[in-house]
Amino acid sequence: MKAADHFRAMRGKSPEEAKFFWSGGPVEVAERTWFQSRFSGVTAFETDEGIVLVDSGMAPLAPALAALLREKTAAPIHTAIFTHGHVDHAFGLTAFLQPGQPEPRIIAQRAILDRFERYERTRRYNAAINARQFGGSAERTQAGEEYDNFRRPELLPDTLFDRDFAFRVGGLEFEIHHCRAETDDHCWVWCPQRSVLCTGDLIINAVPNAGNPQKVQRYPWDWADGLRRIAALAPSSLCPGHGGPVVRDPAKIQRMLIETAEYLEAIVEQTLAALNDGAPPHTDIVHRVEPPASGSPWLQPVYDEAEFIVRNIIRFYGGWWNGRPSELKPASREALAREIAQLCGGGDVLARRARELARSGDLRLACHLADFALECSPEAAEVGDAVAAIYEARAGAEPGLMAENLFRSAACYARERRPFC
Ligand SMILES: [Zn+2]
Repeated sequence: MKAADHFRAMRGKSPEEAKFFWSGGPVEVAERTWFQSRFSGVTAFETDEGIVLVDSGMAPLAPALAALLREKTAAPIHTAIFTHGHVDHAFGLTAFLQPGQPEPRIIAQRAILDRFERYERTRRYNAAINARQFGGSAERTQAGEEYDNFRRPELLPDTLFDRDFAFRVGGLEFEIHHCRAETDDHCWVWCPQRSVLCTGDLIINAVPNAGNPQKVQRYPWDWADGLRRIAALAPSSLCPGHGGPVVRDPAKIQRMLIETAEYLEAIVEQTLAALNDGAPPHTDIVHRVEPPASGSPWLQPVYDEAEFIVRNIIRFYGGWWNGRPSELKPASREALAREIAQLCGGGDVLARRARELARSGDLRLACHLADFALECSPEAAEVGDAVAAIYEARAGAEPGLMAENLFRSAACYARERRPFC
């Protein structure tokens, strides 16, 4: 299912039910403070000098977010803070400004500028991988329309900080703290007088997006430290990067922060123990780590998942080689697929066995054979269709949006007889 369909299906549901996919607002989280979400969340603190806005949504959804806020206040935006430079947080600010108002001050962590530059350099790549992740699609041209918003945002931060930053607007004090987590430019925002904490994507009402298979390095160990630091402040209300807010419920907020920290710490600890135990091949490590089970709604793998977080940790601490000798300097996949097909009697035989395995429930194993089948016989219609069906089945069996849509896009490629791109 496309991300947009998940959000549609969850419309009107409670934050606990909708989890990552909650849309709604404006919710009053404290006096003169409102949270609203369309895909990602935006928090507005009204002061006597104007609004302090935390995040700004995705450019196409920002007008709707701004309209929600304007149900509550007509005050101008005095200061904006970007919790990080992702397109769903730092690209929607223009929609919140009123005609003729002076440009607001914009605060962000210094590394955000390098991120924007990277997006410019890899615009088409980012459009393609987001088409897979959110659309389950192989169509880069379609992606161009829907996701190609990786140009530098119109309004760039003018106030950059490294570690911490504090300021005051209309008598209200704010603290901003850098914390490498989902990104290297991530920060969280604390307003002590209103006891409101804006976490950015440190909290997204789902397993943390700390593993994302197609994206650059993430930092689950610093992330966990940051969550513990936030917990020590004992906030009354929490405004997350995605999903619904927690309003005046400090006990629940403590649970969310500490449980999420513990979850990440357990994965980091087990992955490092496995790495230290003779540096086995990466795939073996993935199968050795057991993620902590949790029934809490904010730790369900509806978007990212533990297995991917393990991979992300291995990438940070290890080299690119996965430890399997043949894959240090491999043959081409096409040559390997042809050889295997020849041994077992052809691509159609591989595809048939893959279908049997899929029907018996072993989708992991089925997909390995399916890949070989498609790689050695991309022109064979029945092989392509069989492989597409296997990846559709696999997508349907995944609880998380990321794996679901990456497998969904694999089915698209197979249907078009293109093994991978
Ligand atoms: Zn986000």
